[in-house]
Amino acid sequence: MPGKSTVTVHADRDVHPSRAVAPPIYQTATFSAQDAETFAQVAVESRGKDFYTRFGNPNHAQVAAVVAELEGTEAAMVTASGMAALTTAVLALVSAGDHVIGQKSTYGGTASVLQNLLPRLGVSTTLVDQTDPEAFEQALTPTTRLILVESPSNPLLQITDLRAVADLARAHDVLTLADNTFATPLNQRPADFGIDLVMHSATKYLNGHSDVSAGVLAGPAQTLHRIWDVGLLTGATLGPIDAWLLLRGIRTLPLRVPRHNANGQALAEALHDHPAVSRVYYPGLATHPQHKLAADQMSGFGGVLGVEFTGGFEMADAFLGRLRYPRRSASLGGVESLAVHPASMWRGMLSEDQIAEAVPPGLVRLAAGTEDTADLVADALAAADAVLAETTAA
Ligand SMILES: *Cc1c(COP(=O)(O)O)cnc(C)c1O
Repeated sequence: MPGKSTVTVHADRDVHPSRAVAPPIYQTATFSAQDAETFAQVAVESRGKDFYTRFGNPNHAQVAAVVAELEGTEAAMVTASGMAALTTAVLALVSAGDHVIGQKSTYGGTASVLQNLLPRLGVSTTLVDQTDPEAFEQALTPTTRLILVESPSNPLLQITDLRAVADLARAHDVLTLADNTFATPLNQRPADFGIDLVMHSATKYLNGHSDVSAGVLAGPAQTLHRIWDVGLLTGATLGPIDAWLLLRGIRTLPLRVPRHNANGQALAEALHDHPAVSRVYYPGLATHPQHKLAADQMSGFGGVLGVEFTGGFEMADAFLGRLRYPRRSASLGGVESLAVHPASMWRGMLSEDQIAEAVPPGLVRLAAGTEDTADLVADALAAADAVLAETTAA
């Protein structure tokens, strides 16, 4: 098997061969067929690439080929965003009367699907503490069809024991879907532990340049066929140019991720002892309560950390205002560092009570980019010193 840096450069080569070294952009909504027989054939081809772009496009197929090989799955598909990947998968795999298990700590959009959208459609849900593998077992019911996990979770960086959840689900004939956005296939491959489906907000690390919204799903071809079939109806199609940009971004993923890992680790270590900081959430810290599990199932810990300030929202907000490099912005995973206050950012997706349950008010989510480590650390320490001095002076 070639290494991951070779895969990201070559795995799509035979998908839609052309003499062009850089793949052409198939900026077309539809494709023609020479005859009735070919037309009938391409019209039903699962995740095909030559019929109609909502059904598939060569630029989609190229991204899918690379992601499937990176994640170690049989197949993959692309969608217009991470949320499109998640909702399309969930709508394809569950029906009214079914039950879904999710995590208490999870991305705000996923939390809203679990707490608001699915119950409205007659699908019951249970949110569990992912740090306790037994909690998943206790939540199982005879109608459970799907377990949705996210590890590390956004933004508390809690870890799910992927093998334990996959084994439990297999034993009960339940499907598992893991949101692998924070880890990327460079740091963690959920399918290696028996997880059925892997999902990404490709908007984040996979694309890596904060210029595309996209999602991917990777897993067995048969399951992806069911999801693709529903995707034809939800119509969350990724534009060909965005798919082309995503492939271009993925080409350098193996070069970017080690820098994100190093920057995340350095920031976590630097801030963890600071007197303005009550807690740093980062699985690469030896003090993280699940550090051993993280080290067992991940080969790197990523660029995102949670930093909780002693002075609550006010201090967190002042810190954001003092940072020179990380911009105050939603999203993560790009070459540029970003920082955000999750409790404010998720107001569009969750109620105040749901937010209060999910994240502490003094938490900042810091997403380290690929800048020089020393610059990011000096900047974060200076900002933390400044907010501490302001509090002491007041
Ligand atoms: C951003 C994010 C999503 C949603 O992805 P979009 O591309 O914004 O739709 C889902 N899961 C995680 C962990 C995320 O960080």
